Amino acid sequence: MPPADTNHGHTADRQDRCEFGKTLFASGDCPRPGDVQLDGSFLCVPHAKLMRLEVQQSTLLDKVFEMDKWLDGPGTRANQSRWWRVLRQRDEAVERLRFNRTLLEAHEEAIQQR
Ligand SMILES: [Zn+2]
Repeated sequence: MPPADTNHGHTADRQDRCEFGKTLFASGDCPRPGDVQLDGSFLCVPHAKLMRLEVQQSTLLDKVFEMDKWLDGPGTRANQSRWWRVLRQRDEAVERLRFNRTLLEAHEEAIQQR
C-alpha cells in the first residue's frame, strides 16, 4: 500500500520524522513524527522531553562538580556558615539528580515500549 499523501498544510520540504537517532545517541530511527524543534533538530514529543531532562541533568552535574571543588578548596572551611550552606545546596542538587534519574529511566522505558 502506498503511503497516504495527506499533508494538511504541512511544509513538505522539512523532514517529518523525529530525528532523535541522528542527534546525541545513535539509537536508531524513531518512527514518531518530529513535532518539536529542539536545538535545530525536529523531535517527537517524548524524545524532546527526554532531551530536556538530559540537559537538566548535565547542568545539575556541572553545578555539583563546581560545589564539590569549592568545598574541597583551600581555606573555604574558614567561613563555616558559608561552607555548610554550600554543602546543603550540594546535597539538595544530588537529591534532585537522583530524582531526575528515576524520571529519565521511567521515561526511557515508556518510549521503548512503543
Ligand atoms: Zn522520537
